[in-house]
Amino acid sequence: MTHEKLINLAASVVKSVKMGDNTSGDVGCALLSDKDNVYTGVCIDTMSGMGFCAEHAAIAAMVTAQEYKIKTIVAVWKNEKGEAHVLHPCGRCREFMRQVNKENMETDVILGKNRVVKLKTLLPYEDDFSKA
Ligand SMILES: [Zn+2]
Repeated sequence: MTHEKLINLAASVVKSVKMGDNTSGDVGCALLSDKDNVYTGVCIDTMSGMGFCAEHAAIAAMVTAQEYKIKTIVAVWKNEKGEAHVLHPCGRCREFMRQVNKENMETDVILGKNRVVKLKTLLPYEDDFSKA
């Protein structure tokens, strides 16, 4: 699975839809699990912060299939012209990936067409702060 193909899969699930005053579905995520299965999801933006990111939705689909390790992940937003742009995962999604499975610190996070970093690069302090 090439990075470009995963980016295209993330872009393929993007479809903006109005939910009340908010827009959902305008960010899509595709992840490749360590078992080489692809899971996708879209963001849901609702009032009062009850929504969640596309990464969150894709990870939920992966966990529903009883998988927990992410090999590669990417999120994509499309503008009004349909042009896809890779987005960086927010802090909550970075921590979410880590908490689903600590081995996800080795996940390749696609940050652009030629830019990939390990999750541990984006979350440099992986100590268990609950013990502090
Ligand atoms: Zn997020």
